[in-house]
Amino acid sequence: MTAEVRRNTLPVRNPRTGEIDYHITPPTADEVAAITARQREAQKDWAAAPIEHRAAVLRKWAEEIDKNRKAIVKAESTDTGRYRIPSEGPDGVIWSIRGWADSAPEIVKKAMLEGTSSTVPHVRYRSQLKPYPLLGVISPWNFPMMLSAIDAVPALMAGSAAIIKPSEVTPRFVEPLMETIQKVPELAKVLTYVVGGGETGQAVIDNVDIVCFTGSVATGRKVAEACARRFIPVFLELGGKDPVIVTENADVDRAADAVLRGSVYATGQICYSIERVYVQEKIHDAFVDKLVKKAEQIELNYPDIHNGHIGPFIFAKQAGIVDEQIDDAVKHGAQVRTGGKSQNLGGGLYMRPTVLTGVTHDMKVMRDETFGPVIPVIKYQTKDDAVKLANDTEFGLSGAVIAGSEEEALELGQQIDAGGISLQDTTLTISILRDAEKTSFNLSGMGGSRMGPASILRFFRKKALMTNTKPPSDMRNIRELPAA
Ligand code: NAD
Repeated sequence: MTAEVRRNTLPVRNPRTGEIDYHITPPTADEVAAITARQREAQKDWAAAPIEHRAAVLRKWAEEIDKNRKAIVKAESTDTGRYRIPSEGPDGVIWSIRGWADSAPEIVKKAMLEGTSSTVPHVRYRSQLKPYPLLGVISPWNFPMMLSAIDAVPALMAGSAAIIKPSEVTPRFVEPLMETIQKVPELAKVLTYVVGGGETGQAVIDNVDIVCFTGSVATGRKVAEACARRFIPVFLELGGKDPVIVTENADVDRAADAVLRGSVYATGQICYSIERVYVQEKIHDAFVDKLVKKAEQIELNYPDIHNGHIGPFIFAKQAGIVDEQIDDAVKHGAQVRTGGKSQNLGGGLYMRPTVLTGVTHDMKVMRDETFGPVIPVIKYQTKDDAVKLANDTEFGLSGAVIAGSEEEALELGQQIDAGGISLQDTTLTISILRDAEKTSFNLSGMGGSRMGPASILRFFRKKALMTNTKPPSDMRNIRELPAA
């Protein structure tokens, strides 16, 4: 891909240097149609094989990912300008494969219902689960490899084929990852990646039977509309504006640790980052003091990628969006307690953890998704006020409560309208990947749960086969009734 730069290529910016040092060549719409036609043919044998066989093939893929770990990490590290998170990326996918390989057979078996009708006792029924032949995945740039595979792995286990179009902002990891897929020929027939931007995403939608999209609300809306026109199911995992409530009984030090990590980990480029902080007025000042002190100890990983805590913005435009939100807040009376606007260091765009006070819900920083290391803090009086503020949003992805006890946190957590609520900490969502289910509220998403057993069951059409154990009713005996 790098050697020859053809006319229809897309440039890729390096987030640490600001330079264009990579290009991708998207397939044409016809090429996407041809790739998916071949996948559809291969999917028939894939789905006909026992689930245990698919699990074994996917386990081989996990081994190949492990073997090619160095190249994958290097590519994703260049994609994202950070090292620690990409170095854990292969493990995330390997664990997902091995976890689903262990649990999927039992989940699918449990979903196969069989019995006697509760309303017509002489009718027996049994389920058939038929995988959607071809899944299209469209994924974002913040966790390139992990988010490209998170839905594809359970879908493949279910018996679907999958075509994945990751973000054009971070496509370098595709080359080394495709090498691992090619090493498992049976898998290569049903799993592939295509690189490109929105047009390629559109071509994928035009050729698949079901779509999993992770990205922004604006694109999610377009994707949902395109899927509705084709009458195919779509699962949307979108943005958030996640709140945390810190009660007066909370341990201030612990709360500041949890809020800081939840807001600035990965430079705040996580869908379920903490982006709004509500603190009871009695502890507000002590909390802000601690938060500022801790935030000032966070170091940029510049100039050495292997040092410090947070990296550059991956997507250059994001720095501008975050700067504009800070400007808007300051213009309307907010105070910057530490941090501030983005800075260009060696061509990369970096931002120090930025704590804001004096913010209100009229400001962009409290309404729009930030996706940067910004921590706006508001003080509240009563718990009812805190819940009202937390729910005053267009989003509903996740949230958190830090209180004096788990019971106190739980009581408030149950009142927050969002899919994943962390108690006594923040951003715990990923820990329940294959365990508990969650769905988003409002603009944060649509469709079934990506987490827990429901995740794999999304990829099946559910059929019911019914048998009458008695002779069929005779139509001649089904007469109209006389007037009552
Ligand atoms: P984006 O919406 O700009 O792009 C996402 C993907 O959609 C990319 O692959 C892009 O090429 C593709 N795309 C663009 N236009 C398209 C079109 N018309 N048809 C089909 N595909 C199209 O999002 P992004 O900037 O890459 O990612 C950041 C966003 O993702 C944030 O809003 C973040 O909150 C969200 N996100 C959500 C989750 C979650 O699980 N809820 C996880 C990570 C990121």
